[in-house]
Amino acid sequence: MPSSFFKKMNSLLLAAFFIIAAIFFIYSIYFSNSTRLKFDQITLRNGPGLTYSKNGILKKNERLETIGKENGWIHLKSQDSKTSGWAASWILKNGNKKIDKYGNISQATIVLDPGHGGSDPGSLAKANSRDPKNFEKTYTILTAKATKKALESTGARVIMTRDSDKLLWPLSKITNISKKYNADAFISFHFDNFEIQGVANGFTTYYDNGKNSFQLAKTINSSFNDLPLQNRGVEVGDYYVLRETTLPSVLLEMGYMNNPDDFKIIREKSYRKKIAADLKTSLVNWFNESDQ
Ligand SMILES: [Zn+2]
Repeated sequence: MPSSFFKKMNSLLLAAFFIIAAIFFIYSIYFSNSTRLKFDQITLRNGPGLTYSKNGILKKNERLETIGKENGWIHLKSQDSKTSGWAASWILKNGNKKIDKYGNISQATIVLDPGHGGSDPGSLAKANSRDPKNFEKTYTILTAKATKKALESTGARVIMTRDSDKLLWPLSKITNISKKYNADAFISFHFDNFEIQGVANGFTTYYDNGKNSFQLAKTINSSFNDLPLQNRGVEVGDYYVLRETTLPSVLLEMGYMNNPDDFKIIREKSYRKKIAADLKTSLVNWFNESDQ
């Protein structure tokens, strides 16, 4: 046979070899399920969520195999000790320093819901105003964003029902987000109004009776005692986002838009930062106290 045929065959074989090697290389990067635990230890749970009981500990440098994924949680098996269980995927990235410092909240999923948005401005600071600085929706999202930042510093996974100026309608769109992420706590942010301008003042923490939310509402509300507005306490509130959900949920009314004294404080960045810091403190405590 002519030598050019062999040359062609050789180059074809070579090309095929490189293509197969490349496919294998990409496959091994994308589908590799073996890794080593990089930090001291991690507690595993019986299922993909914080509410499942603890069932084992993996130690540093154990070779891990991923055997499943659900709700942002990973089902891990140790090849060394034969231990298996679920861990929050974001914890594997963050390391265990946050777990040591803040405890359970590092493995929690918290949904923050900035009330209103889009065509729904919420309460108005001045009747008939068209200026967004007088709209409730402007302050609900600013407060939720400040809270997200504070909570994420604990390692928690924080999900916003909206992070731009849009309307979530029907309201089941809001409650479905908690279901989708199998969330551990839900907080809705609002600012009040009263029919007669300037009459009512202060903030209220609402929860839905009959759910596992009273303790959460109480813990959050008592952390708010350092806020500059009057604390109107904890109350049962018949709101869709609390009623149509099964996870611990609260709705915060953080002051009266149409009370000029309240509104002056609502507009201050320092007020939002205080709310965010209080929520961080109270949720860290609540997640540690309600441990399985
Ligand atoms: Zn509202």
